[in-house]
Amino acid sequence: MSLNPCELEIDLFCRGMRVPDHVSLAGARGVSRTRAGLGSGLELVIPVGSRLKEEIWINVPVAERFATVSPYRLDGGPADGYRLIDERTGTEYPVRLPPEPPWYERLTSRDVPMNRIGVMQGTALGIYINRVCAFWDYRPPLNCRFCTTGQNVGANEASDKALSDVIETCWAAREESGTTFVHLNGGFQGSRGIEFALPYVTAIKERVGMLVGVQLAPERDFTRYDALIAAGVDHLSFCLEFMDPDWFARMCPGKARVHGQQLFLDAIAYCSARMPRGAVSGEIIAGLEPYDRTLEAIDRIVSLGAFPTVCIFRPTVGSDLEDWPSPGYEEMRKVMAHAYDACRRRWIPIGAAPNIETSLVVNPDDAAMLVERTAGFYCYEAFRAVARVVARPLFHHRLQPRVSPPGH
Ligand code: SF4
Repeated sequence: MSLNPCELEIDLFCRGMRVPDHVSLAGARGVSRTRAGLGSGLELVIPVGSRLKEEIWINVPVAERFATVSPYRLDGGPADGYRLIDERTGTEYPVRLPPEPPWYERLTSRDVPMNRIGVMQGTALGIYINRVCAFWDYRPPLNCRFCTTGQNVGANEASDKALSDVIETCWAAREESGTTFVHLNGGFQGSRGIEFALPYVTAIKERVGMLVGVQLAPERDFTRYDALIAAGVDHLSFCLEFMDPDWFARMCPGKARVHGQQLFLDAIAYCSARMPRGAVSGEIIAGLEPYDRTLEAIDRIVSLGAFPTVCIFRPTVGSDLEDWPSPGYEEMRKVMAHAYDACRRRWIPIGAAPNIETSLVVNPDDAAMLVERTAGFYCYEAFRAVARVVARPLFHHRLQPRVSPPGH
C-alpha cells in the first residue's frame, strides 16, 4: 500500500532514510547541523502536483541511529533522478533532491562564507542571529534536552552575524534562489532583550524586501513586540514545546525556570491580537509528552488566534536525548490531522504566504491530505483559496524593499 505525500513525509520524519554509499548526492544540499540540530538531515522534495499543493519539502533524518535501520532507502542518482524505496512493501516513490544554492560558498564582504550565515530549510532561509542561546551559558547548562544549538553555533555556523553579512546573504537568497521568507531565530536572548533583532528586521525590510519571521524567547514586557511589528516583521513564533507542565520542566529546564509556560501563551495572545491573522505561530514538539497533551497544545494555540507549528521529535546526534526512540507514525499522523482541523475550525488562513515551504516541520496545510473530505473541508479549502488571492497584492507589497538597493 502506498502512502500519500503527507503520509510519506510523516513516516520519513518518524523513520528516517538510509543513503547507500553507491548513491551519489553530487550537487545536492549538504547535511547541515545548525541551530537546534533539526537540519541534520538530507533536504528532499516529494512531488504532490494536486490542487492542494505542488510539492512537499522535508529534511529527512539520515544521521540519527533510528535512520540507520529505516525501511526507506534512497536509490537512483543525479542523472536519472532519485526514488525512495520502502523495503517493507517494495513501493517506490519518485523524489527530488534540491540543488545546493549557488551562493552557499560565496563570501560576504567581510569574507564569511554565506552558508555560515544562513541555511536553506526548504524554500525558506534560516539565520540564527543570537550569539548562542543563553541557556547554554548557565553552569550547569539549562538547555532544552532535545537541542544541540550550543554545539553548532560557532562550530558549523558563524557565531557573530554582522548586519552586512545577513543583508548580503538575504539578498543572494532572494535573487538566486527566489526566497521570499527569512526566519531569524536565536533561542533565549538573555538580558540583551529582543531589541537586538530590530536592526536585522528593519534592514531586511528596507534593503532586501523579504518576509521576515522572528523566533526568540518571550519577553515579559510585551510592548517590546510593538517596535518589531512597527518595523514590519511579518511573522512571530514562540516555542512553547510542551503542554504538560512536567514534561515542559523536564525537557526545557531553562524555559521552566526563566519563563514559565504561561508567558509563552500570553506572548502568543498579545502578538496575535496585533498582527494579521495567521502571522503568529506557537511551536510544539510531538512525540515526547503524552499524545493528548499535544492535541491540547494545538487547540490552545489556535484558540489564541495563532497557528501551530508541530515538530516531530528527532533524537538528534549529540543531544541529551540521542538514544531515545523516534515517535510512531500512527500517532503523528493523528496529531498532524488534528493540527489541520484545529486551523480549519478557527478559519486560520494557513499557507497564504507565497513560496514558504519549510522542511523541518509538517506544514499545517500539508495535512489537508490527511483529513476526511467533508463539507467543512471543502468550505475551508475554498476560504484558503480566496485568502491566497486576496493576500497576493499585500504580500507583493511586503516583498518590495522600502529603500532601493544600490544599482537597482
Ligand atoms: S531555547 Fe532551547 S531549543 Fe531553543 S536554542 Fe535554546 S536550548 Fe535550544
